[in-house]
Amino acid sequence: MQTDGKIIYVAGNPDLYPLEYYDAESQTYQGAIPEFLAAFAREYGYDLRYFQPGPDDRRADLAENQQVDLISGCEAGDRYDHTDGEPLILFTSESGGGEEAYALFLTQVSPEQFQSDLRAYAARTSQAEWTGAVLQSAGDMPPQPVHPGLLWGAGGIFLALLTALILALFQLRKRRGAAAVQNRTEEGLDSFETLKEAFVSAAASPIRSGYSLICIHLDLDHLGRLWGYERARELFLHGAQTVRREAGAGEVLTNCGEDLLILKRTAEPEEAMRWAEGVVGQIRGTSAVSLRAQDAAAGVCPLAVSSRDFGHTLFHVRQCARTACREDQTSRLCGTEQCRFCQERWSLLDDFFRALERNEFQLYIQFFVDADSFRIVGGEALSRWYHPRQGLLSPSQYIPLLEETGQIEALDFHVLEKACAFLEELGGRQVQDFFLSCNFARKTFSAPDFVQRCIQVVQRFSFPLKLLILEVTESQQMNRSEMEQIRQNIREIREHGMRVIFDDFGVGFSTFHDLQNCPVDGLKLDKELVDNMQTEKGKIILNALVEVGHRMGLTILAEGVEEEAQITTLRRLHCDAFQGFRFAVPLPELEAKKRILRGERSLKDRDDKHEEDSHVE
Ligand code: C2E
Ligand code: MG
Ligand code: MG
Repeated sequence: MQTDGKIIYVAGNPDLYPLEYYDAESQTYQGAIPEFLAAFAREYGYDLRYFQPGPDDRRADLAENQQVDLISGCEAGDRYDHTDGEPLILFTSESGGGEEAYALFLTQVSPEQFQSDLRAYAARTSQAEWTGAVLQSAGDMPPQPVHPGLLWGAGGIFLALLTALILALFQLRKRRGAAAVQNRTEEGLDSFETLKEAFVSAAASPIRSGYSLICIHLDLDHLGRLWGYERARELFLHGAQTVRREAGAGEVLTNCGEDLLILKRTAEPEEAMRWAEGVVGQIRGTSAVSLRAQDAAAGVCPLAVSSRDFGHTLFHVRQCARTACREDQTSRLCGTEQCRFCQERWSLLDDFFRALERNEFQLYIQFFVDADSFRIVGGEALSRWYHPRQGLLSPSQYIPLLEETGQIEALDFHVLEKACAFLEELGGRQVQDFFLSCNFARKTFSAPDFVQRCIQVVQRFSFPLKLLILEVTESQQMNRSEMEQIRQNIREIREHGMRVIFDDFGVGFSTFHDLQNCPVDGLKLDKELVDNMQTEKGKIILNALVEVGHRMGLTILAEGVEEEAQITTLRRLHCDAFQGFRFAVPLPELEAKKRILRGERSLKDRDDKHEEDSHVE
């Protein structure tokens, strides 16, 4: 009897290969039982649909919710509510000395006519025909649609052969898994694209709440400074191997810079948290060097609370891991009240490009003075963000964020343009002896097209290029090839007549080795060195740095100078120039310009003004 167009919902079993399994690529159930059901539906005119197909076994839930007519891929001994408890046995096989029966269960909501049609069809389909179905679907890997005649015509094959075949197929699947694993790097990392694809498919699946994106952040910047780049790299490998060891075989693990990312399947977010904390504990505890709590921590973002957007979720989970590091936690869960900070940062980032267009970044200038005469010889270009809702933001509120997310370059060039316009205007007013320095993150400076982009900007102006100084900041650690690019860029920038100095020298990544290889014009000694100068050891270090710098013909500028005693010592050490609140706070460009144009260049008697007092009108 035909029941045209009648829709029947089936709850499939994703994990009874090769009888029934979920094929992630086609996002359908495949195998002998689906083939059997398809043949039945064709013959009897049913429209059979799998209900919420996915890689997780949700048959019990779906039966309980009374959403399905048929529960598929079952063993005869299974028990489901909302059925009459009677399995519709399709096929038996011997295994481990016993017999297993594979079956379907009809739920109480399935139409009576459908029940009797299915029972009738199963009764007239022999076990031998079943064998053919399994062989056919096993032969196609991944399975192909099968012609019903071909499918049901292969009789006469023995049950023992079938059992052996199933075992062999399980082995084959394992080997295939092994081959996929071989595509991983030696640390067990998959490609970033693989993670992204896995995320997108998990986020779109009905069981997305069973997944969490986890980020394990290792503070390689700090570790690199302490232990050297090579050891920091070893530590990263150790971390990756630990995560891989603890991860499930099919779980995707990759890295994004110094962050390890894994898409984890767990029953609930708390379990993902416990897993992440266990892994972080292992990384901290078993590494060759002793790690501080701030050196490794995890962020956990359950897909149940995340947006479906991969970039957004990635940002959140990385921020959470970093915040956990900063706050001495082992892990932090996204989407909680704690996570509000991440939301704010995300929306700041979201505002960033619009802010550039709307000219919300303003140029501030902090003068530096000649160490002998205290005369203003130049200044440093610093940015301030006048955010329409949040008010005036200082660089510490956005520079690290822009660096982490790779957006800093846009700001660096934006400020360069403003700095050039400033110098141009002074030049037009006959001031030709004021130097202006501009900050460039190492990431910006190490780009292969950096010099070309600089030239494109400066050639629109006519001030002498020797007045422009590029400061290479100490923000991020570089690998060898990036360092090589920085060296080449320094050479080329200087060939064009501009100057280059290392910012924050003495506390960051620049080393004497870099000084030997990079032909810079000068060094800015970091405030931390200046602060430590009053201690005996601090004085020795500072002395040595100035001495080496001078011997190499470099100009030495000390920053963060606040006290008279510091000035006395720095003068004795023959530092060339000073920058610090003792002389001037950063001023809005208009105010700085007025002062220079008025010729007020002496800062011997610093006016006690705070930056907050100096607002743009
Ligand atoms: P920096 O380049 O080392 O700039 C010097 C920082 O030290 C400035 O902070 C300045 O206000 C502060 N400073 C100067 N003298 C003193 C002092 O005597 N005492 C104290 N406590 N601080 C002093 P600011 O303007 O907040 O900038 C912070 C950092 O942000 C800068 O450090 C620079 O690396 C970065 N930055 C600012 N604007 C930009 C930009 O447009 N691009 C890039 N890449 N970095 C920028
Ligand atoms: Mg600087
Ligand atoms: Mg500095």
